[in-house]
Amino acid sequence: MRIGVYPGSFDPITKGHLDIIERGAKVFDKLIVGVLVNVEKKGLFDYSERVEMIKRVAKHIPNVEVKCFEGLLIDFMKHENARVILKGLRAVADFEYEFQMALMNNKLDPEVETVFMMTSGKYSYLSSTAVKQVAKFGGCIEGLVPDEIIKDIFLKIKRE
Ligand code: ADP
Repeated sequence: MRIGVYPGSFDPITKGHLDIIERGAKVFDKLIVGVLVNVEKKGLFDYSERVEMIKRVAKHIPNVEVKCFEGLLIDFMKHENARVILKGLRAVADFEYEFQMALMNNKLDPEVETVFMMTSGKYSYLSSTAVKQVAKFGGCIEGLVPDEIIKDIFLKIKRE
């Protein structure tokens, strides 16, 4: 079985992420979305909330699983019996960082490959950070994140 892992912070999931998940699910038998727990960086949403929101918006894709992981991605991959990392590439700006990460992960475990999927043009400017900034100032985030989580974002920001 071909298992892919799509890692990220997903704070919160955007339509750009969901696009990669939908397309990635067609390439792998099973796609595991891995929400990276970063103890040094407090995000807007708790990890369990991020996982729940991804599950909610990806429930129409049967071969997608959503899990949290802490520590090295390579260790999570081993635990899940996966050998392929899926990454989305937005622009040239993503390239340098992703290039470095891919080489480092391959150095840590030469069995692991990273594959990149180009963003769909319409989402190339989208990031979780940009969504949070727009929402913080009351801007419209329709079309940027799945409709089902718009309310969650505004509620969370109001409580901050
Ligand atoms: P963000 O930069 O939005 O905070 P993450 O760190 O959660 O996102 O990103 C997880 C993965 O999703 C990374 O591989 C990132 O390059 C990819 N990604 C993020 N936004 C998009 C997008 N709009 N289109 C394609 N890939 C994306």
